[in-house]
Amino acid sequence: MPDSSFHGMRIGGKSLEREEGVKWAERIDTYYDCPVNHVTLIPFSIEADIPQTWICRCGREAVKRDDDSDYDNPLGKNVRTHWDIVQERRSIKELKAGLKQRLELVRQGKLRVGV
Ligand SMILES: [Zn+2]
Repeated sequence: MPDSSFHGMRIGGKSLEREEGVKWAERIDTYYDCPVNHVTLIPFSIEADIPQTWICRCGREAVKRDDDSDYDNPLGKNVRTHWDIVQERRSIKELKAGLKQRLELVRQGKLRVGV
């Protein structure tokens, strides 16, 4: 029986084409912000015509973020930290307001720290 036998293949299984030697298209990660602060990340080929809007998972129209330079990293991969994700969802102004509110609760004894 030859090595390339198809026995045991299931319909819808993996492609029989080998990935060796395949040059993947270079991509650019594009972020879209919807009106209720959902962030959608879509990786496009650098050759793609990138749309200015995208339909968010909530059904609202999300607008392409112009400056996503904050998401570049020296590894060349899209490695997002928890902080990156927090920043995608809230502006620094909102984060400061939230921190101030929480600290106020701690000071008033309404919120215990470290529990
Ligand atoms: Zn949304």
